[in-house]
Amino acid sequence: MSVCPVNALDLRETRLIVAETCIECNLCLSACPMGALIPAGECLPAEPPIRESYDIVVIGAGPGGALAAREAASLGCSVLLLEKRQEIGSPVRCAEGIASESLARFIAPDAVWISAEIRRVSIALATREQEKTWASQVPSEQHVGYVLERRVFDRVLAEQAARAGARVEVKTAALGLLLDGDAVKGVVAEGPCGRREIAARVVIGADGIESRVGAWCGLDTTLPLGDHMACAQFLLSGIDVDPQCTYYYLDAEVAPGGYAWVFPKGEGRANVGLGVEASLSTHSPLDLLTRFIEQRSWLAQGSPVTLIAGGVPVGLPPARIVTHGCMLVGDAARQVDPLTGGGIANAMAAGVLAGRVAAEAVAAGDVSQHALQRYEQAWNAGPGRQMLRNYRLRQRFPSGERMSERFAGVFAMAVGGAK
Ligand code: FAD
Repeated sequence: MSVCPVNALDLRETRLIVAETCIECNLCLSACPMGALIPAGECLPAEPPIRESYDIVVIGAGPGGALAAREAASLGCSVLLLEKRQEIGSPVRCAEGIASESLARFIAPDAVWISAEIRRVSIALATREQEKTWASQVPSEQHVGYVLERRVFDRVLAEQAARAGARVEVKTAALGLLLDGDAVKGVVAEGPCGRREIAARVVIGADGIESRVGAWCGLDTTLPLGDHMACAQFLLSGIDVDPQCTYYYLDAEVAPGGYAWVFPKGEGRANVGLGVEASLSTHSPLDLLTRFIEQRSWLAQGSPVTLIAGGVPVGLPPARIVTHGCMLVGDAARQVDPLTGGGIANAMAAGVLAGRVAAEAVAAGDVSQHALQRYEQAWNAGPGRQMLRNYRLRQRFPSGERMSERFAGVFAMAVGGAK
């Protein structure tokens, strides 16, 4: 601030504000140790030079997009991974639970991005104010799951994609697709250097629950209200919680059509949240969550240090998740487990399948819908089967019956340790 002769610079939290009194003397430009200040109207030179044509452009650097990029790059494709946020993985919109066997298929566990190792599951049913604890079905020295630190985990996955050869760009949002008839030919993106068009043989839409890629290329990804969970979650600090146990509450009062959770994060912290079926609840998830916490003294003693809200799709993926030159993965393709709401492992599985099929299609010179459909088929024959099974189970138990002991048994098998 002190370099400015007219006192036009003001630092508010992490934002630098330039007042109208600025006389554009540019003294501040050379004072910035990062070289991050540029004269108005100028753009930083791209370093290294940006290729405006890629084999594959992946939109969204969540677990689905990062794994798609990693897979395609490791198979020799030129890959660009675009992320609209300035920091991959942040803010976290997730309870961060994952079963250990699901995780291990894609990445070796690392303490750097693991908050807690889970060995027990507790499921509380409200009907009889009775709490049942299912012991883990694996030897106690093994883990049934983890609570991740996704802020780090997502970034590590993107770093792996970069190491495999993908170019990663943050703070760069896809605004639309380049289309030739009904074939997708690339992406219009906007980043720190402005708007540009990027040609791609295949575009992979991994842009999460808020996905626009499907709509842009004519794939119907709309969700019926009943297939949408509305969630709220606090990170509570200063609570006395079993650091190796994930807690689930099946209670129509607490979370109509859904459930509440407490996932420990170590050091007296836990993700405490709930998801409600959007069509059933007259109260907001945040109101319900606040009440849930207030009614439990062991939670009420904690301080909320983060609040997040988000949606979870709990239906089935649309009939089509590929078109000419374009594929959808993860939440963008609604590939979340309908029973548990867990989507990290499915997004990673879909990312690997899509990245592989896209790379093979590029190598064969055929990126038509027909060629890319091998991804859809592989999904339906693999992780999609379990999704379908869990969707049918969810349908078999209407929301009013989801706090029965029978449902708790089914739910316990689905969470198998952690979500
Ligand atoms: P995301 O992780 O959502 O990543 C999508 C990325 O795309 C984001 O980084 C976004 O910024 C980026 N993006 C979006 N639009 C654009 C654009 N136009 N241009 C560039 N980038 C864009 N799952 C579990 O397995 N376990 C849990 O415990 C769990 N808890 C949850 C709790 C809550 C409250 C919520 C809301 C979800 C939870 N989920 C959980 C679901 C899980 O978070 C998602 O299923 C998972 O993150 C999906 O991964 P993804 O890669 O498909 O999408």
